[in-house]
Amino acid sequence: MTDQTRPRPEGKPWIMGIHAYVPGKVTGADGRTLVKLSANENPLGSSEAALAARKSLTHAADYPDPDSRQLRATIGALHGIDPARIVCGTGSDELLNLAAQGFAGPGDEVLFSRFSFAVYDIAARRCGATPVEAPDHDYANDVDALLAAVTERTRVVFLANPNNPTGTYLPRSEVERLHAGLPSDVLFVLDQAYAEYLTPREEDGGIELAAHHDNVLVTRTFSKIYGLAGERIGWATGAPQLIDVLNRIRGPFNVTTSGQAAALAALGDQDFVARSRDHNATELARFTAAIDALGNHGLRAVPSKANFLLVLFEGEVTAAQALEAIGEAGYAVRHLPGQGLPHALRITIGKREDMDAIAEALRKLVEQGA
Ligand SMILES: *Cc1c(COP(=O)(O)O)cnc(C)c1O
Repeated sequence: MTDQTRPRPEGKPWIMGIHAYVPGKVTGADGRTLVKLSANENPLGSSEAALAARKSLTHAADYPDPDSRQLRATIGALHGIDPARIVCGTGSDELLNLAAQGFAGPGDEVLFSRFSFAVYDIAARRCGATPVEAPDHDYANDVDALLAAVTERTRVVFLANPNNPTGTYLPRSEVERLHAGLPSDVLFVLDQAYAEYLTPREEDGGIELAAHHDNVLVTRTFSKIYGLAGERIGWATGAPQLIDVLNRIRGPFNVTTSGQAAALAALGDQDFVARSRDHNATELARFTAAIDALGNHGLRAVPSKANFLLVLFEGEVTAAQALEAIGEAGYAVRHLPGQGLPHALRITIGKREDMDAIAEALRKLVEQGA
């Protein structure tokens, strides 16, 4: 029985200010299961080698390797990084949170762009720091606006490149300009969750930046192009002093045995990565063209370098109407009114037939409306 007269445990005020992360939907208004294109998962699934490595495990009684040694060594070999400068996490989500917690606290500011990854706001609030949003430039990260928002209290700056939920990206020169403009005691966290979708020529140079500066942390994930979101594995690289801070506060056994095995095998299957990248490039271009063709009805595709497209509804047809029409066609996509985007849908690039079906549903909707 609860006693209403006695005091109860109270969540800390900065925790109670958090709006819990809202994951992408999988069911329609009528309760039926939809094809999920709302969480930027890989439509090709996972590497067969990764699935086989996971399946071959017969032993689950022992704790995993607390330091993910083999995985770090293999990541290091692939990317030319000393494994001592790598830490693995329970998804990059854990590492983003630890980066905020390790370097910011009450009274400090954590800076990021408007329309960026929802986890940054949560990470800032979780450690009692103040989240600060810099204005965007037509949905893209704006280096001048970010630099203008830096104050004496800024301790951490998050930048997703390519950015989620907009898909926009900053070229290497802009990333370098942002870093060069930050005080040396501000931690620059460059979140490269979608970096593998870029061509080598488009890479933003983040890993090199992290190799040469003491205030740069780059995060990567196995959840997107590697198709292992269910295993929860990410990694970060930076100066040994930064990695040391994250190692002090991470979960001691934060990457499972099956996660380490799957990630290791996935790294060895770069054919799967290349196929995923090619599929995405082809279908992203086709779907973007299909949206552009509806431009006279007020639909606008924000130029994307990631595995999703942010579609703006600036005419008669609203994003809410489009969400419903796409749902009726059997697909769940992302509507983010809580992130200031009530007029947009973020649509993950799926299989070719999925993208054709969504484009067709949108075409029918706007033509009805006209
Ligand atoms: C999906 C995503 C991640 C990955 O999160 P995990 O915890 O590794 O699954 C990180 N950052 C951004 C911007 C993302 O969109």
